[in-house]
Amino acid sequence: MESHQDIARILLRYRAFLIATHVLPDGDAIGSTLGLGFGLQKMGKRVIMSCPGGVPDSLAFLPGSNRIVAPDHISGEFDAVVVIDSSDLDRIEGIAGKIPPGTPVINIDHHVTNRMFGTYNYVDPGAAAAGEQVYRILVAMQVPVDRDMAMCLFTAVGTDSGFFRFSNTSPTTLRIAARLVEKGAEPFRVSEQVYETKTLGSLKLLGRVLDTLHVDESGKVAWLEVRREWLSEFGVDEGQTEGFVNYPRMVKGVEVALLFRESAEGKVRVGMRSRGDFDVSALAEAFNGGGHSRAAGCSMDALSLEDARRAVLQKVYEMMARAR
Ligand code: AMP
Ligand code: MN
Ligand code: MN
Repeated sequence: MESHQDIARILLRYRAFLIATHVLPDGDAIGSTLGLGFGLQKMGKRVIMSCPGGVPDSLAFLPGSNRIVAPDHISGEFDAVVVIDSSDLDRIEGIAGKIPPGTPVINIDHHVTNRMFGTYNYVDPGAAAAGEQVYRILVAMQVPVDRDMAMCLFTAVGTDSGFFRFSNTSPTTLRIAARLVEKGAEPFRVSEQVYETKTLGSLKLLGRVLDTLHVDESGKVAWLEVRREWLSEFGVDEGQTEGFVNYPRMVKGVEVALLFRESAEGKVRVGMRSRGDFDVSALAEAFNGGGHSRAAGCSMDALSLEDARRAVLQKVYEMMARAR
């Protein structure tokens, strides 16, 4: 395992980078990618940035977001690859196949389920966001953090910590956020863009999805379902359902919240949240997914929504029985 100082030294050895992050990217994925990309450019490096599916509209306000390309548009040479906020290479879908054999891979991530797939691995489950790790690397490289970088990294740290409400928020998270605000990040703009600007369709879809809210007999498990045809009915893409999983989590007494989404590629994606001792990262790993103890997810293939729900609920009860 490498430290942030090691990674800073390693990055300085290479000239051109491909920075890749995970499919259905969140604020941490995009913010960390851009923050590191800007930093490396300041050090005179060439940078290509990519993410499967591209940047969602809600994050297009970030400076430089139009420079993040879909995997098919990766062009140019690079002598090292940085993978950010991704617990395994499946998370960067079409990008992994574009990495020439022998190219060093630098894995920067904070998921407890990280598979240590890199040539170099800086994995810190204590970090609330990959953005915290990128900030430490930039400081170690002595790159001055400008306003654009601050905005991107603040978005990374702010969104993954639920704007400093989730249990991963540490004194370090708040200190880094304060430094980023001093450097010009504007929390109100991030909050307004990410949380308070929704399309009419996505709010109407939320209405439909909330109708599917179920709580089991024990009152401890709740879930929502998103049918694929609803996305086209309301003109909404899958990324705009981010955050829906927070609703079953709010139900009083609920310990495990689940969101089942019929995904565009004929898969079911499952979002998982815990508000107690239940470790959803272990639940996700049982289905080849990953995440953190209180927020995790997986993708399941060739299953109906009902089958996915049955399989995941069965595993939840099995794990709850074992914990007793
Ligand atoms: P989400 O429910 O999509 O917000 O994801 C919650 C957490 O689980 C995030 O940290 C994701 O990186 C992780 N996660 C979600 N889906 C997967 C997956 N298919 N494989 C690995 N990790 C995942
Ligand atoms: Mn992420
Ligand atoms: Mn993250």
